[in-house]
Amino acid sequence: MAFDHIIGQEIQRQRLMDALMQGRLAHAYLLYGPSGTGAEALAIELAKAVNCAQGPGEPCQKCPSCRKIQMLQHPDLHVFLPSSSTKAAKGENKNSEVKGRPDARLERRIALIESLAQDPYAPFIFNKNDYLSVDDIRGLRQDAFVKPFEGRRKVVIIAAADRMNVAASNALLKTLEEPPGELMLILTTHRMHGLLPTITSRCQPVHLGRLPESVVQEALITRYQTDPDTASAMARQSDGRLNQALQAMSEEGTAIRKEAFSLLECIHGDHPLQIFEMIDHLTAMHRKTPVVEPLLDALLSHYRDLFILTTASKETMVIHIDRLEAMKDIIRKITMEQIEVGIQDIEEIKQSIIKNVHPQLALTVLALRLRGRRAQAA
Ligand SMILES: [Zn+2]
Repeated sequence: MAFDHIIGQEIQRQRLMDALMQGRLAHAYLLYGPSGTGAEALAIELAKAVNCAQGPGEPCQKCPSCRKIQMLQHPDLHVFLPSSSTKAAKGENKNSEVKGRPDARLERRIALIESLAQDPYAPFIFNKNDYLSVDDIRGLRQDAFVKPFEGRRKVVIIAAADRMNVAASNALLKTLEEPPGELMLILTTHRMHGLLPTITSRCQPVHLGRLPESVVQEALITRYQTDPDTASAMARQSDGRLNQALQAMSEEGTAIRKEAFSLLECIHGDHPLQIFEMIDHLTAMHRKTPVVEPLLDALLSHYRDLFILTTASKETMVIHIDRLEAMKDIIRKITMEQIEVGIQDIEEIKQSIIKNVHPQLALTVLALRLRGRRAQAA
């Protein structure tokens, strides 16, 4: 698989290349937008463009510098990712000896960086305890004053920069205030509100928007060898985020969709008390791996299907075609207007989760609201 180019985002990419060619690159960039729209991929591409052996500009993708940067193994490129030592990384054996060891944090970080090097669009699921520490940032400050070893400029990528605590933010602020000449800092985030305004104001912002559905579909087919039908269905529910499509196709994604549908059936079923059992179950799941956000995305895509089914649209537009009959049962109990308001409710609760509202509370409020709308409809 070739991951040596960016998916979509032509305007943003061109803007950065122009700045590079005209010698007016900023010392610090903040690449922000919904996750899965390519902030990390663009950061890596920019690092290549700055240091390509063929000269600054369009990265050749072939020289040793481009290849080392692609693998995140260039001596002048440093990548910082939030990590923790208290929980095993996704996919690791939770009981493995990694847990709790002092170097576990470093191991977790190495695993995350390897995943990023393999595919900058791979979905990251950070734990609640994953953070960037003040030591990380201090280390980068010291290192920043050393001249580049091989390249023209040192590049530091701080991914998910919103996961810096105050001490780390303040340490970074010092670097931003007086950046050494050859250093370029690239921060990425999909939670702008998690960054101190003093940091955002010192970075050149680059906004990455959602990818068009056709672009996600094309990427799934060409990069991930997905068959066209699956690619089309996954792109439709990706919300313009490639990582969401990849997540939905994974085993975990399939499991989450199943849970979302069970929740939907509970909400519109004849035994409302089951809602609370279901939410207890989901909250317990969430304690092990954060599932509430993807769960709400899946619930949202089911609601969009319900909406389609209440309009004159073709059934082929439905994403969860395997649940067609069950969804037809649900729309007998609910009007189009209530589905529309329900979609807004889910969006709103999703935002509250991003802002750290307790998942159990958020899910309960949501389920009761959605159920309540149905009761009003009856
Ligand atoms: Zn090159």
